[in-house]
Amino acid sequence: MTTTTKYIFVTGGVTSSLGKGIIAASLAKLLQAQGYRTTIQKLDPYINIDPGTLNPYEHGECYVTDDGAETDLDLGHYERFLNVATSQANNVTTGRIYQSVIDKERRGEFLGKTVQVVPHITDEIKERVQKLGRSGEFDIVITEIGGTVGDIESLPYIEAVRQLRWDLGEKNALVIHLTLVPYLSAAGELKTKPTQHSVKTLMESGVQADILVCRTEHELPMDLRRKLALFCNVREEAVIQSIDASTIYDVPNLMLEQGLDTVVLKKLGLESHTPDLTRWNEFLKRHKNPKSEVTIGLIGKYVELQDSYKSILESFIHAGAENEVKVNVEPIHSEYLNEDNIHAKLSHLNGVLVAPGFGERGIEGKIAAVKYVRENNIPFLGICLGMQMAVIEFARNVLNLKDANSTEMDPETTSPVIALMESQKDVTEKGGTMRLGSWTCSLKVNSMAHKVYKSNSIAERHRHRYEFNNSFKEQIEAAGMVATGINPETNLVEIVEIPEHPWFMGVQYHPEYKSTVANPHPLFIAFVKAALKHKKKNQGVSMA
Ligand code: GLN
Repeated sequence: MTTTTKYIFVTGGVTSSLGKGIIAASLAKLLQAQGYRTTIQKLDPYINIDPGTLNPYEHGECYVTDDGAETDLDLGHYERFLNVATSQANNVTTGRIYQSVIDKERRGEFLGKTVQVVPHITDEIKERVQKLGRSGEFDIVITEIGGTVGDIESLPYIEAVRQLRWDLGEKNALVIHLTLVPYLSAAGELKTKPTQHSVKTLMESGVQADILVCRTEHELPMDLRRKLALFCNVREEAVIQSIDASTIYDVPNLMLEQGLDTVVLKKLGLESHTPDLTRWNEFLKRHKNPKSEVTIGLIGKYVELQDSYKSILESFIHAGAENEVKVNVEPIHSEYLNEDNIHAKLSHLNGVLVAPGFGERGIEGKIAAVKYVRENNIPFLGICLGMQMAVIEFARNVLNLKDANSTEMDPETTSPVIALMESQKDVTEKGGTMRLGSWTCSLKVNSMAHKVYKSNSIAERHRHRYEFNNSFKEQIEAAGMVATGINPETNLVEIVEIPEHPWFMGVQYHPEYKSTVANPHPLFIAFVKAALKHKKKNQGVSMA
């Protein structure tokens, strides 16, 4: 194994949304499957300290790590592909870089020097990149630079990469540039010019790409690869085609066929072996050959943008494969859901998931959905806000506490079944002030949760401010909704169930952040299984 950590930088050109995160994760998978301890880091060029304050419409889901970092959704891909937990160190934004440089300036650490983008901001970037390498935990660190080459805000990052290549030496650092080779249907041709320009832009900043990964809708012919190699100053073998795939989970195998791992390892002077993708390919086989299918409604207010619920959608893919079931997720906008249309929108579903979220918009639709699935015995999973809505619905319609609510939505409610914790009451800042990251939870023996997890104690990730109000617990439990998961330190309720219902579970935490290909989440596996059971039972009824 290596003694020096090797660094791989992934930059993007031509356009955004080419899937740098997936390419980085796929390469990492191939390297990991050859025995190299690999991690991935994302550098985001925006000024927000973290994406926690960003509206999901802006940037998709905010992914939360065990250590409570609110991060870019690409970290979710890294964990799902590698099955290795990430942390705050894996996601750095320009905001965070500037904040720490400015803090140092205030402490007088620059000894009277003028603080500048080069070298102070670039030094801070370099420090953040090498920090992961210095931990001694990794042989290879892949650093994905967010944004597109040529953007004003990416410049300090590209400059840091230029310097790092000198500092680390040619054998220890390389640059992969991901570009687009568009197909012009009118001309019937694939075009290399955008890639040439993008590589040129990178070179203007002193960085020569070592490997080109070219996104394309059509196979790249050999002469086009040769042309790209010639004009972009890379070896022919280093022009890698990344053709559109039917699932992101095919990309590691596609990169393997193209030899991306071999080129990378050769350039870094490392041995290359055949990667062991047995577990991965077993998953793919099950994913692609389902024996049956279920339809699960995903009720949320950001459903127009699939990225808002990325981890939930991926968890269903993992759990579906595990059950050999195709899970069709039907997005349902909570804002347009009401008592009048609820039957038409939900009756055909085999399961319903009420999604996490913030604020008032769409919550009455979520409550109506919970009522419908509770009364009609449809399997239900409520996540975070979804769990809170299940508690509110139960309080309103079973306990008859008509104005039951969360104080997030109605601070004046006389039945605050969901309320702010004492420790949160004086918090005014928005960023990083929620209950975040991994917390332990004790499970009630013989509860459904206990059966699902097959354990007495679990740890799951959180991202919320409001909590189940324990002063209503006795009343709620007596009426048939039971708290089956409790935080042992704070006594806060983490899980509610309705034992009378075939499958009804609300969780205050986010199981979706911990589902990976190698380790599909038990809660999602059980939920999909329950949906299948519900479907079969209903078919039985309609056939009778
Ligand atoms: N808005 C709720 C809270 O802050 C739920 C958050 C969530 O669903 N992530 O408690």
